[in-house]
Amino acid sequence: MQTEIIRITDVASSRAEIKQAAAVLRAGGLVVFPTETVYGLGGNGLSATSSKKIYAAKGRPSNNPLIIHVDTPHEAEKYAFAGDLYRRLAAAFMPGPLTVVLPKRDCIPYATTGGLDTVAVRCPDHPVAHALLSECDFPVAAPSANLSGKPSPTTARHVITDLSGRVDVIIDGGESDIGLESTIIKIDRDEAGEYLTLLRPGAITVDALTCVCERVIIAPAVLEQLGEGERPLSPGMMYRHYAPTTPLVLLDGDPAHVLAYLQKEQEARSCAILCYLEEIPHLKDVHLFPVGGREDLSTQAHSLFSLLREADKAGADVMYAHLPDTNGLGLALYNRMIRAAAHTILKV
Ligand code: AMP
Ligand code: MG
Repeated sequence: MQTEIIRITDVASSRAEIKQAAAVLRAGGLVVFPTETVYGLGGNGLSATSSKKIYAAKGRPSNNPLIIHVDTPHEAEKYAFAGDLYRRLAAAFMPGPLTVVLPKRDCIPYATTGGLDTVAVRCPDHPVAHALLSECDFPVAAPSANLSGKPSPTTARHVITDLSGRVDVIIDGGESDIGLESTIIKIDRDEAGEYLTLLRPGAITVDALTCVCERVIIAPAVLEQLGEGERPLSPGMMYRHYAPTTPLVLLDGDPAHVLAYLQKEQEARSCAILCYLEEIPHLKDVHLFPVGGREDLSTQAHSLFSLLREADKAGADVMYAHLPDTNGLGLALYNRMIRAAAHTILKV
């Protein structure tokens, strides 16, 4: 398949290209588009055939459900059953990096939801995504536009590396702002009333969610490795994810101890290091990949996936990174990094 690459810097002057991409989706084709979180690999979410094409292009197991993308939070109600709590969440966080899992309506095929009776909906906050979705009279099902198992793409270059020849169109809209996938929550209910289950942490933090709904429960798979045979609430959490080829080890400990360990390791073997800016003067300038300042979690989120790809190319024996704290946006960083490291954490 020949993949067409369309670069869009200004939506207003690219109406024709947007309409063309929407026509490809309507005809059952696949279009990669930029969002504020990561790039998405889009197809018509109402079409089982399109959803199957998405799984095939990504090499993704078909029981791992897709997120449907809509232009306005209200539109989601055509495809899912939503109540008052959804509307309050939408008012607070949409458009934005929040995905909500709701009971699906019949129009959404099981091929899109990986066989589940629920569907995940999101309304992205990105001018190109917004323009594209507003041209579509159907929801756009889109997982991250990487090959299954690779880090999510935050630039068109990453997408071209992974999916060239496997999709019809790639829209290059520059770097993704946030750099980590959306927060995913499910609305649940027990005797005490409604509560939220956090299935995947992202830029909408637990503290922010708590402002809208007092009870937020973190699903076990967010922080820990599930036991043999245990099924996560969010099927995607089952898979080894974001995995570099070079073994990644996360270092946990007092900052001075971690730095001393890295210095010692640089003498002993070839290491690629995802370091903090503050550490650069204290390390040898070989295969250093600065993720941002120690406290600058937004920059770390923005650069993480890109640097995992870069560091993997260094061909080092081992890759080191810091184990993040789990406060605020740190929880999302922690969740992605323990997966990338296949839960390899070294206490130093
Ligand atoms: P990605 O599109 O690559 O960011 O992955 C989307 C993730 O959303 C999947 O891996 C699932 O874990 C999660 N997801 C999508 N739909 C549902 C659903 N109906 N219930 C629970 N998790 C879902
Ligand atoms: Mg993904």
